[in-house]
Amino acid sequence: MNIAVIGAGWAGLAAAVTLKDLGAHVTVFEAAPVTGGRARGVDDINMGRIDNGQHLMLGAYAETLTLIKRLQANWTIDALVLREPLHLESADGRFKMRAPALPAPFNTLMALLSAKGLSSADRFKALNMMVRCRLSGWRARPLETVSALLTRQQQSAHVCLKLWIPLCLAALNTPIEKSCAQLFLNVLRDSLNGPRHASDCLIARVDLTALWPAAAAEHLTMRYRHIVRAVRATDTHVEVDGEHFDACVVAIPPYATARVLFNTSSAEDAFSQQMQSSQQSETSLQRVLEGFEYRAIATLALELEDNWRLPHNMMMLDEDPSRGHVGQWVFNRLGHDKQLAVVISDASDFLKHDRASFVEAIATQIREQCAKHPDHLNAMPAVKYQRLIVEKRATFDAVPGLKRPSNQSPWSRIALAGDWTDTGYPAVLEGAVRSGLGAAAILKKTFNL
Ligand SMILES: Cc1cc2nc3c(=O)[nH]c(=O)nc-3n(C[C@H](O)[C@H](O)[C@H](O)COP(=O)(O)OP(=O)(O)OC[C@H]3O[C@@H](n4cnc5c(N)ncnc54)[C@H](O)[C@@H]3O)c2cc1C
Repeated sequence: MNIAVIGAGWAGLAAAVTLKDLGAHVTVFEAAPVTGGRARGVDDINMGRIDNGQHLMLGAYAETLTLIKRLQANWTIDALVLREPLHLESADGRFKMRAPALPAPFNTLMALLSAKGLSSADRFKALNMMVRCRLSGWRARPLETVSALLTRQQQSAHVCLKLWIPLCLAALNTPIEKSCAQLFLNVLRDSLNGPRHASDCLIARVDLTALWPAAAAEHLTMRYRHIVRAVRATDTHVEVDGEHFDACVVAIPPYATARVLFNTSSAEDAFSQQMQSSQQSETSLQRVLEGFEYRAIATLALELEDNWRLPHNMMMLDEDPSRGHVGQWVFNRLGHDKQLAVVISDASDFLKHDRASFVEAIATQIREQCAKHPDHLNAMPAVKYQRLIVEKRATFDAVPGLKRPSNQSPWSRIALAGDWTDTGYPAVLEGAVRSGLGAAAILKKTFNL
């Protein structure tokens, strides 16, 4: 059985290695010269290997962790990722929330109850919200936004600012007024309400391509630098740019999927494609793909003149857009004692600003806030090198009511994968991996692999 996988992001590769394990011969087509997609390593002339974007994983990313362990059998997981219990702390040290070593859900409940920088009324209301969401089976109201959920749960402006807004932006990359409460609750359910280690925070010690995508590629036939233009299903095979395969997983973003599946160049192709599916489901898939909108994430990698570490590997930054202080999280780059990475979620509004002053303002933001930390940090050294990477379509806009297709396409020989398929999660790594496994499961069932 010859299967083509289009896209070597985490979704496509998860599908590809699973199908390979089932005995298929898998060829992966990837537009870029490397694997990993949006979660990949990038070479920087001054800083060496950095990531396309700083990523945080959670202990709840069960399928992702299983895949890493399976593909990196020569490494322990601890050598590849740093795993720490939930610990949210602002760079100035005024807000701090840490999960103690207790069984779930007491670890996260205690983290809320003992949070520093929240009034006792705010702590109890936040705890109350968690308990009520749990009792309601983590169900939001139809088409509810996160902001409406927080109002309904009587969360104060302060607890929203310090806790819920940063968590929502980190998970959904969509402002609370627009983001889908159900997706947010799904993330809280699986992380804060899961088994004890589900709320752990995991940061890769190696670049994201080296974490597992490169190891996956070693088992597969890779066609790098191949931008697929057209995928056509017939009753006997699938054609990928004219090359015949028995089946195909399309694991590229929605706009690219619409292009390869529906950019039918000839009447004959159009007829053949329609013969394989009901015209109605084909049209509805096309509409669904066109319904996605996207949000940017910017990541600023900094190399300092001297070694310097944050007191905790991941810290929250207070924002003040009027001063260009738009960073939300700052990370120590593990294994590089002079390097930091700053995450700017939902970054579209800032892209028009001049880059040099943008970088300087964010460096000032970190320097000023860390100077207030009670651990009396040394002053942050000057910035020697910087690299700003802006991913304009980093994630889909996680709005309520967004229609997301399943892994099943209208054609029996084509399955769909990607963080945008109906995973129950926002655009995150675990969703991408699960979608790849889902697409592989569909082809397994169809072809009795
Ligand atoms: C800056 C940034 C920060 C993020 N932070 C986090 C985080 O902290 N935690 C988290 O869980 N998630 C995070 N995410 C989201 C996460 O990266 C994505 O959910 C995940 O990488 C999506 O994987 P995918 O395989 O679905 O898609 P992609 O990674 O987009 O993979 C699609 C692949 O298809 C290729 N391709 C596209 N068109 C074609 C074509 N026509 N022919 C051949 N190849 C093609 C692309 O080059 C790409 O390699 C972040 C994303 C970004 C951009």
